[in-house]
Amino acid sequence: MTTKSAAAATRATVYGYPRQGPHRELKKAVEGYWAGRIDADALRAASVELRRANWRRLADAGIHEVPTGDFSLYDHVLDTTVLVGAIPTRHRAAVDADALAGYFAMARGTRDVAPLEMTKWFDTNYHYLVPELGPDTTFSANSAKPVTEFAEAVALGLTARPVLVGPITYLLLAKPAPGVSADFEPLTLLDRLLPVYAQVLADLRAAGAEWVQLDEPALVQDRSFAELNAASRAYRDLGGLVDRPKLLVASYFDRLGEALPILAKAPIEGLALDFTGPAAANLDALAAVGGLPGKRLVAGVVDGRNVWINDLGRSLATLGTLLGLADRVDVAASCSLLHVPLDADAERDIDPQIARLLAFARQKTEEIVTLARGLGQGTDTIAAHLAANRTDLAARKASALTRDPAVRARTAAVTAADGRRSRPYPERAAAQRAHLGLPLLPTTTIGSFPQTAELRAARAELRAGRLDDAGYAKRIEAEIREVISFQEQAGIDVLVHGEAERNDMVQYFAEQLTGYAATRHGWVQSYGTRYVRPPILAGDISRPGPMTVRWTSFAQSLSDRPVKGMLTGPVTMLAWSFVRDDQPLGTTARQVALALRDEVDDLEAAGTSVIQVDEPALRETLPLRTADHAAYLAWATEAFRLTTSGVRAETQIHTHMCYAEFGDIVQAIDDLDADVISLEAARSHMQVAHELAAHGYPREAGPGVYDIHSPRIPDTDEVARLLREGLTAIPAERLWVNPDCGLKTRGWPEVRASLTNLVTAAREVRSTLSNSTP
Ligand code: GLN
Ligand code: ZN
Repeated sequence: MTTKSAAAATRATVYGYPRQGPHRELKKAVEGYWAGRIDADALRAASVELRRANWRRLADAGIHEVPTGDFSLYDHVLDTTVLVGAIPTRHRAAVDADALAGYFAMARGTRDVAPLEMTKWFDTNYHYLVPELGPDTTFSANSAKPVTEFAEAVALGLTARPVLVGPITYLLLAKPAPGVSADFEPLTLLDRLLPVYAQVLADLRAAGAEWVQLDEPALVQDRSFAELNAASRAYRDLGGLVDRPKLLVASYFDRLGEALPILAKAPIEGLALDFTGPAAANLDALAAVGGLPGKRLVAGVVDGRNVWINDLGRSLATLGTLLGLADRVDVAASCSLLHVPLDADAERDIDPQIARLLAFARQKTEEIVTLARGLGQGTDTIAAHLAANRTDLAARKASALTRDPAVRARTAAVTAADGRRSRPYPERAAAQRAHLGLPLLPTTTIGSFPQTAELRAARAELRAGRLDDAGYAKRIEAEIREVISFQEQAGIDVLVHGEAERNDMVQYFAEQLTGYAATRHGWVQSYGTRYVRPPILAGDISRPGPMTVRWTSFAQSLSDRPVKGMLTGPVTMLAWSFVRDDQPLGTTARQVALALRDEVDDLEAAGTSVIQVDEPALRETLPLRTADHAAYLAWATEAFRLTTSGVRAETQIHTHMCYAEFGDIVQAIDDLDADVISLEAARSHMQVAHELAAHGYPREAGPGVYDIHSPRIPDTDEVARLLREGLTAIPAERLWVNPDCGLKTRGWPEVRASLTNLVTAAREVRSTLSNSTP
């Protein structure tokens, strides 16, 4: 099936590997350095060891060309800022005094200087540090890190390929530095930046690099004509350099679209394309531009973002088609393996039905090597792998876990009416007003109260078996009493139970739903030294029993005021998990929605009149390409409505969102048909209230008036000012008063003071309203 010449040279490669080490050694070393337990030399030594271990592991597995430079003490975009010398003015003194301490000052800030802003790396759950650039920014090459790390790999006798963030992506990810006009476009600095990349490439060439990889994931997003032009110019210029290594431009996370013909024509030697998920469209697009004659194609056929085994037969078919389209075809994961945990073999407690289907970074590396061998040496050489893979995939299809007949039947029977409240909003609003009897500008919170050291200790004791279930429940109940009594004293109108029993808003539910699996060691980097262990949504989802009713009912039994029930919504349950790849996301979302719908209905039956379904991830899961937004928002909003539509008109449904600009999804927010939405807004001075108003948002809203990301206590005047601002956009009958988000990361003293001020401010503004209205 293979054309000999192209296939013979097939290599296996990866773009990046998890940095942390099998026992999160990197986290320990970096945090040890911050705490002064180890010095800079010890941190460097630990890093060198981790890099070497990764490369050896990759080479032993059969990877022909190992990546270098992907390692980072904190973040690879911050490393690029150092590489090109774009240190913000406020950090320059610290960096000059001590490069390592200055590096961490940029990442984390110091007592006197703010850190760089952090934001999501495309649509992953990894966060990078945003470069700050302005018209006065000058660049200078500082190749020490990539050159040193390349030399380390070569010293081990390996073929290595340095990986850098490309100049277009670097500039497109940057923002105007503080004090620079918001209209400033960092991409206008391209001509200043390219000579610096030329220097870095020359330095790597001098160190012996044959190939260098330049990552340009920003080109898989919708790009303007000017941006595409800049990409074209950048690679024409870099390609035209005399003293340079061969250039491999890598794209991932989606299809290249309009950027594909540009890069195909550019004077570079190789292109890396993603062929998984929506990026599979790259295949036809590549054929349409006549392939990559004379170039190297690196084919990302193993999904670098999920945790599932590859369909090797299908990948080989894709690779076979690609062979005719390039001079040489290499095999890789769709993106860096940074976004998956290290080793599925380390998981001993996962149901064997699921365990055999898991592929983390180590297993994905083996798949890449197997595919490269099959492509290069013929499929007979991997016959045993193919047979085993077919058996596993067949088992997945046949398993009761992935095909629960009851769940399937219920999902198939869903009708449009199931996703709609029985009464239109105006009727519901009247029924709720009568039922709840709330004042104008009702006050509430978003759900969690401080997660104290005592609560964490209680959970640890429970896990360790030193505390039994009854003992643990007593502690939680004591906490709930505390939270309820404080809210009554403070005069809050709609109370919450405080979420004391929840470790994490997704994990708590994942642990109680059938179809989810938890890992023991499945850590992935979220940012810096923060790692998370996302649950794995592995099978059909069902709910064996109520998950929250017990705690909400207990809280309600303590008060005459309404206590709001709290759930994590279906979209967020998917967004912060590893999701299955054997059915459309919309199908999975519908299953989760039905399970949550039962919880909502049970809460109502237990006497809960206000129920909040949180969807903080609704905005962040938006696909990278605008063309894909409508389809996503259709299933996402349907899942939310399915979750919340089973209740009576007088039961009030709330939702909550945060960490985002909501302007571009106001229509979707409207489509949720929630009775009340609370949104983060304090820092942006209620901007979102105006966005909702401009859209004509017809229902109730609580733009946050207390910034919970800061220990600062807002005083009464400040809250009142924000409320009056909110009233210019939203009429008093529809305006709620609440913080930006949950209070779990805050301390009790701040929370007491802040909420007391919030209630006082609401009363103050309320009294002026009743004075002026007849
Ligand atoms: N109900 C959750 C809380 O208060 C919401 C958290 C979130 O929006 N991220 O903690
Ligand atoms: Zn929030």
